Amino acid sequence: MSDRLQRTLQLLNNLVSFDTTSQESNLALIDYVQDYLSKQGFDAEVLYNSQKTKANLVVCIGPRVAGGILLSGHTDVVPIDGQHWNYPPFSLTLEDERCYGRGTTDMKGFVACCLAIISEIDPQQLKKPLWLGLSYDEEVGCLGVHELHDYLAAQPVKPELCLVGEPTSMRPVNGHKGKVALRCQVKGKECHSAYTPQGVNAIQYAARLIHFILEQEKQLIEKGDLRFDPPFSTLHVGTISGGEALNIVPNFCQFDMELRYLPQQSPSEVVDSLKTYAQHQLVPVMREMSADCDISFKTLAAYPGLYLDEMTPWLQQLLAWTNFSTAHTVSFGTEGGLYQASGITSIICGPGSMAQGHKPDEYIEKDQLRQCLKLLERIICHLYEK
Ligand SMILES: [Zn+2]
Repeated sequence: MSDRLQRTLQLLNNLVSFDTTSQESNLALIDYVQDYLSKQGFDAEVLYNSQKTKANLVVCIGPRVAGGILLSGHTDVVPIDGQHWNYPPFSLTLEDERCYGRGTTDMKGFVACCLAIISEIDPQQLKKPLWLGLSYDEEVGCLGVHELHDYLAAQPVKPELCLVGEPTSMRPVNGHKGKVALRCQVKGKECHSAYTPQGVNAIQYAARLIHFILEQEKQLIEKGDLRFDPPFSTLHVGTISGGEALNIVPNFCQFDMELRYLPQQSPSEVVDSLKTYAQHQLVPVMREMSADCDISFKTLAAYPGLYLDEMTPWLQQLLAWTNFSTAHTVSFGTEGGLYQASGITSIICGPGSMAQGHKPDEYIEKDQLRQCLKLLERIICHLYEK
């Protein structure tokens, strides 16, 4: 095994050993990375959330000039709750070609490769900077990365390319859908269930809204784009709660829903029509019974889609470096759409496959790490040259 892979696996073991499930703090991992970088002579900035319970990390290596490449990863992982694991999730188990552990594929494997390659950089030789940006709370809707964006926006110089190392089996990805996640709360009026006309049944009004959502989805299916799977925008209700007992007309119902939309579409059309239906068709009828009745919506998370023209020079360059002739799209969302929207060309390309992400016994193959290290080496050479 090469020294470089050996170091990467050691780093991956350390990263996996921090339980950075999105509901937990990621500060121990961020401290570890900051300390690691400082030992290499690089000063990273730690950007905390307002409660100082979580943080992003950003470092600029080499000359602080315009251009260069940002390597982007998230530090949080999805929960293991309800999953049956045959391997310890928070330590690395090596078995033949596979490295098991939560986050190995999504996406601590990529972060480990970045840290391993950074230790080999001679910053004096860099003509353009290499940036590394690590975020928190990506898995719950790209929430943490916004502070990192604000930081980059305030810099006099910005990277030219953002490489998001989400698992794509090292194949460059130039498109993914956007997402809007909403919480809908329906406030009705309770009463004894023997006198239903005197109450406002919150669950039943929620059901009417959900029915409207299903009708909307039928229209979205007609506006397809075969580059995506499924080839249209989708709507879905994921959780619902409400009601106290069968003999009480429920005064409250809440459900969470999401829209995953094609990057060329605007989410506001769908979201606005839902809000309009609630405000104009349902709320007035509910208020005939009680003025307190209401339907409200709260955005839980939102990020834009990504679509980059196939002929974009950076995409062509990345295809050449990874030996692929064409880029493809993925169904899951990434922070790439946000970087792209802020004016930094963004491409998704990272080790491992999402087929192994979010599942019990998540693993990454050593060869994926090798391929990622090779790409990162090419990127460093490129930054040495221009
Ligand atoms: Zn991920």
